[in-house]
Amino acid sequence: MNVRPGNAPLSGCADTPVLKERGQHEVFCGLTGIIWLHRKMQDAFFLVVGSRTCAHLLQSAAGVMIFAEPRFGTAILEEKDLAGLADAHEELDREVAKLLSRRPDIRQVFLVGSCPSEVIKLDLARAAERLSALHGPRIRVINYSGSGIETTFTQGEDACLAAMVPGLPATEAKELLVVGALPDVVEDQALSLLGQLGIDTVRVLPARHVDETPAIGTHTVYALTQPFLGDTSAALDRRGARRIAAPFPFGEEGTTAWLWAVAQEFGVAREHFDRVTEAPRARAKAAVARRAEQLCGKSVFFFPDSQLEIPLARFLTRECGMTAVEIGTPFLHRDLMAPELALIAPGPRLSEGQDVDLQLDRARADRPDLSVCGLGLANPLEAEGLATKWAIELVFTPVHFYEQAGDLAELFARPLNRRSLLKNHPFFGSGKSSGGSLEEAGGQTAPLKVAT
Ligand code: SF4
Repeated sequence: MNVRPGNAPLSGCADTPVLKERGQHEVFCGLTGIIWLHRKMQDAFFLVVGSRTCAHLLQSAAGVMIFAEPRFGTAILEEKDLAGLADAHEELDREVAKLLSRRPDIRQVFLVGSCPSEVIKLDLARAAERLSALHGPRIRVINYSGSGIETTFTQGEDACLAAMVPGLPATEAKELLVVGALPDVVEDQALSLLGQLGIDTVRVLPARHVDETPAIGTHTVYALTQPFLGDTSAALDRRGARRIAAPFPFGEEGTTAWLWAVAQEFGVAREHFDRVTEAPRARAKAAVARRAEQLCGKSVFFFPDSQLEIPLARFLTRECGMTAVEIGTPFLHRDLMAPELALIAPGPRLSEGQDVDLQLDRARADRPDLSVCGLGLANPLEAEGLATKWAIELVFTPVHFYEQAGDLAELFARPLNRRSLLKNHPFFGSGKSSGGSLEEAGGQTAPLKVAT
């Protein structure tokens, strides 16, 4: 196996020209984020102010991928609302009052804007203020937009967290804020490692319960765990907090670099850092190496989707021996991505935004071994004989920090394995397309009711 050594190239892809595309794009809207956010914030309710289409998106996407007591729903805008014949504000007040009387466990309500509410210019900020005054202080009402006109699917989380920041209480304490909605088990692992390093004053945004909401001030330092939190980062900066620049905690190398950047900020000695991280690093390296056998020497093409593309390209090229031919991202946030770009060896095309037909042409010309893309592109590409990985799975699956590094590599190895198994299959092996990736979704179905 020929995995590249972990030493950083001097400036990597930092100076690579970026192909900027502003054509048709194929991504989910920001409402999708509710699927993981509602699991994270256990006393929050996400009320989408939208159409039946929005309700169907949530119901079908969430129905396939989660099992949970529903804490999201859709206040449906009917034709009379859209035509301005009804007072949507009055109806919204009624819906929220009904919801809160039925669900005393709810402490935060997020009013989530959608395409229809944007188009009719329903003022959800005013509604949130009014409802906060009505139901506060016990209940907090916050608004943000998940509209497909304005957001791609991971931007929903960014918009949600950014909307929370102005309402966070103030503190003068020097504290670390870990920012990004991680699965609880992964968050616990990260907090345990930080505790072993001697960093105990750690808060998390978003908190699991409203009573654990972090405070913030000019002595707060924060570390992002997700690369798509540009607006949240800007909102935290406006409150005087300072970002710790680091690669993102994907893979052994990214996790070590992230932890070390935090450790340095809190004066942790290198020897102590090495002692604490030695065993989990070794486990992560071994787990990645097992999967890298299948990935090494293969090429990967990233269509822009989740904004995870650049850190994942760094992981795949440096820890798994893959070659990136194109790294597409919906937005390239230079500041946040600088430590990542510096680690990626020059070579791949960088593209920002999307013009889907042009990008498909480039992928067809490159014939990568693996294309990472949205659901809408996966089946057509599979039908053309290209192996694909659904980008959305990378957001739904625990992939951060040491103990998940092997699983992260496995996510990319699985479609390649599947393809090679099919190649040798007596029926599919004739070059016929598999026609889809049902096994990729875990084959789960758990329809949920929309709860309003
Ligand atoms: S917010 Fe817009 S893109 Fe998203 S489901 Fe609703 S109508 Fe569709």
